[in-house]
Amino acid sequence: ANGAHVPALVVGTGYGGSVAALRLAQAGVDVHMIEMGMAWDTPGPDGKIFCNTLEPDHRSYWLRTRTKAPLNYFLGFPIDRNISRYTGILDAEDFSGITVYQGRGVGGGSLVNGGMAVTPRRENFGAVLPSVNADEMYDIYYPRANAGLGVNTIDPAWFDSAACYQYARVGRKHAQRSGFPFVFVPDVYDWDYMKQEAAGTVTKSALAGEILYGNNHGKKSLQLTYIAQAKATGRVAVSPLHKVTSVAPAAGGGYTVVIEQLNTNGDTTATKTVTADRVFFAAGSVGTSKLLVKLKATGALPNLNDEVGKGWGDNGNVMCGRANHLWDPTGKLQSTIPCSGIDNWAAGGAFAEVAPLPTGIETYASFYLSITKNPNRAQFSWNAATGQVDLNWQTAWKQPSIDMAKTIFDKINAKEGTIYRTDLFGVYKIWGDHLTYHPLGGAVLNKATDNYGRLTGHPGLYVIDGSLIPGNTSVNPFVTITALAERNIEKIIATDLR
Ligand code: FAD
Repeated sequence: ANGAHVPALVVGTGYGGSVAALRLAQAGVDVHMIEMGMAWDTPGPDGKIFCNTLEPDHRSYWLRTRTKAPLNYFLGFPIDRNISRYTGILDAEDFSGITVYQGRGVGGGSLVNGGMAVTPRRENFGAVLPSVNADEMYDIYYPRANAGLGVNTIDPAWFDSAACYQYARVGRKHAQRSGFPFVFVPDVYDWDYMKQEAAGTVTKSALAGEILYGNNHGKKSLQLTYIAQAKATGRVAVSPLHKVTSVAPAAGGGYTVVIEQLNTNGDTTATKTVTADRVFFAAGSVGTSKLLVKLKATGALPNLNDEVGKGWGDNGNVMCGRANHLWDPTGKLQSTIPCSGIDNWAAGGAFAEVAPLPTGIETYASFYLSITKNPNRAQFSWNAATGQVDLNWQTAWKQPSIDMAKTIFDKINAKEGTIYRTDLFGVYKIWGDHLTYHPLGGAVLNKATDNYGRLTGHPGLYVIDGSLIPGNTSVNPFVTITALAERNIEKIIATDLR
């Protein structure tokens, strides 16, 4: 409520925010979580909370009047459609050189993502988080994160027979024939539920095109794991459709936090001010970076250092499709949950997810999201003229990612006698180089913050999300975001709150 005082305020309800809320509450601290997106706990007129990818409606996008599908063409035709403006679940946030996809709602990215729960290979960790003790991460915090998230792995025998993974088996065959290691990737989707979907005994989700705009069943989003546990402590309150716009030192100590209440048109209906002893920034790489850059530049948090806004990367994301021969179909039923990848990180700087194209028809296409060792880093900066935060990423900075992805797919195409698809991202366009699903950095650990996420210059302010990670995790990022949050909050509770 307006004028309230809270011991701990958490901005955002994604991975970092959910870990912070649960562990603080378990330590006896009352927590208030503020989330700009919706609660996503109430079915719409069709009886479902979330819409699917084949029939996206107003629930699909954050304040857009037309969908902006990551894969926006098919057979050279644009597939986007008009929708009514609504505080929908997926934000396709446009910066000058890149569109950054993010989840909006209680659960953050866990609502929209593929659930691929990947721990980086130990030998790559030093490049991911150079100032963090790897032994502690691999002995304690990665296992804790994987347990908290409910990570599980597909049954390989079922994989070999399931119709919905024919596309992944084709991916495996092509990878192995070209000599690349093919790996199964753990996920938070409940594989036993998916088996029942395939058997026709439960309501379908992964086998009904649900992904990107939410999963009605099967996926263990944060709402069902960390946030459920946090709420069960009785110490955590969550305010959806509330957006933090300012944090500044309060006269009597602590911080004054300004919060705008939104309606489902995205209009501000009320402005509230609360005081918090401690504020945890968990608005995601983009959300946290935008807030901190603005608050530093406008003088609300003048003591933040010059590292704020720097070190942002796209986890080297780049997409492409390959056209298979007519005797190599990928199947008209495709599970939306990816379960495998091609690991060419050491030799070529690329780890490629074998991704679905769940169109409901046979496409003869293999589709991939590659994570690459792209070295380019961008910076957020305050634009006083527009009152917005800009990001200076350039589309051409994806070229290293394309080159690294080609170390896999040029070889596979040569071996198979196949070519790239040119109809998925435009007319005669091979590479999906205009987007990322994996924004990372902007308030990098041990630079903008100390080695545990404490923001320099303002005691009681913390960063605890993907903005701590300097641009790349070598694999899909949320397990690392969760494990780092587990590490940092343990230290903060032990030293700052006792
Ligand atoms: P987020 O999860 O982004 O949470 C931040 C939250 O803060 C959001 O809910 C946001 O609405 C809220 N917020 C922002 N600003 C404010 C504000 N000012 N006030 C109040 N609230 C605010 N990763 C994987 O590891 N595996 C995958 O399979 C995978 N697939 C993906 C697929 C898609 C389509 C997308 C978009 C992402 C995917 N990711 C995947 C990435 C993963 O979801 C993100 O890395 C992760 O969610 C980031 O966690 P976070 O805690 O940093 O922030």
